[in-house]
Amino acid sequence: MYDIIIIGGGPAGLTAGLYAGRSKLKTLIIEKDIAGGQISGTAYVENYPGSIENPTGMALSERMEEQAKQYADFVFEKVEEVKLDGEIKTVKTDSNEYQAKVIIISTGARHRKLDVKGEEEFANRGVSYCATCDGPFYQGLDIYVVGGGDSALEEANYLTRYGKSVTIIHRRDEFRASGVVVENVKNNPKIMFEYNSVVKEIRGDKEVEELVLENVKTKEEKVIKNEDGSPIGVFVFVGNIAQTELFKDMLKMENGYILTDDDMKTDIEGVFAVGDTRKKSVRQAVTAASDGCVAAVMANRYLESKSW
Ligand code: NAP
Repeated sequence: MYDIIIIGGGPAGLTAGLYAGRSKLKTLIIEKDIAGGQISGTAYVENYPGSIENPTGMALSERMEEQAKQYADFVFEKVEEVKLDGEIKTVKTDSNEYQAKVIIISTGARHRKLDVKGEEEFANRGVSYCATCDGPFYQGLDIYVVGGGDSALEEANYLTRYGKSVTIIHRRDEFRASGVVVENVKNNPKIMFEYNSVVKEIRGDKEVEELVLENVKTKEEKVIKNEDGSPIGVFVFVGNIAQTELFKDMLKMENGYILTDDDMKTDIEGVFAVGDTRKKSVRQAVTAASDGCVAAVMANRYLESKSW
């Protein structure tokens, strides 16, 4: 029996584990894939306080994982079922069943897809959602980055180290990304822009050779391809979808995001939600970590308030 089980090992979950473990609560973190979550695939994290030396997302993730593991149990398993009602909660994974008095949900979010013809077919053969993972495959090629938020622009900047050119395709003519990030791409001579444009289709044979764009204002179509037939790389960063399917019909949600109060409490006693899984305005590694801290402290108070 654990005091707290944390589902998901991104910045929110790892911070919750660190705080809960340091409060001497018996804590388990369950991660299905890779510690650090989305941030592990981020090229550079330059706005996480203290992340100056080796600020890659992977390095930051590893440091967070190592620190959390000093205080909490940590397993790589996939959670398949949860029972949240009642004082004792159950978590079934692909290999074990656990019980706890408190559950902290930190299952994060996954990449949204474009949902256009060719995207699925060319996934990992020209279409990618991770610049650090796949950037080196596009050395010397023309790269197209879709999206206008922080992820698209930061990763576009990073991809200029590999691509002959990097073109950002954005559906508006103003970026959603923050000031410094926009300034960086606009000052990067290797980056070009296709504004007011969306991808309609991704075409090719073994690799991606053509991109069909539509201008959202004029409805004109434009086919992008290299005359010599050389392949192109397409990186998609068009936002995220909360990974909350496991908790559907159990917790109050809005557009798939779990509703919490300021203490990270959900509408079920003893269940907290943190980071990108919950409805909130600012989604950053630092706000995810902050959520994790708040949830662990409030979970501790909840545990102390009960006679078990
Ligand atoms: P985001 O901020 O939601 O931006 C998604 C972008 O994709 C928007 O520009 C959006 O266009 C565009 N888009 C959405 N659906 C599209 C579609 N079907 N076709 C074409 N374009 C589409 O997502 P994000 O950049 O992944 O960032 C997610 C969160 O993490 C944000 O809160 C962000 O600030 C944060 N983040 C922070 C950092 C950092 O601080 N270092 C780095 C990465 C991410 P519109 O603008 O027209 O809606």
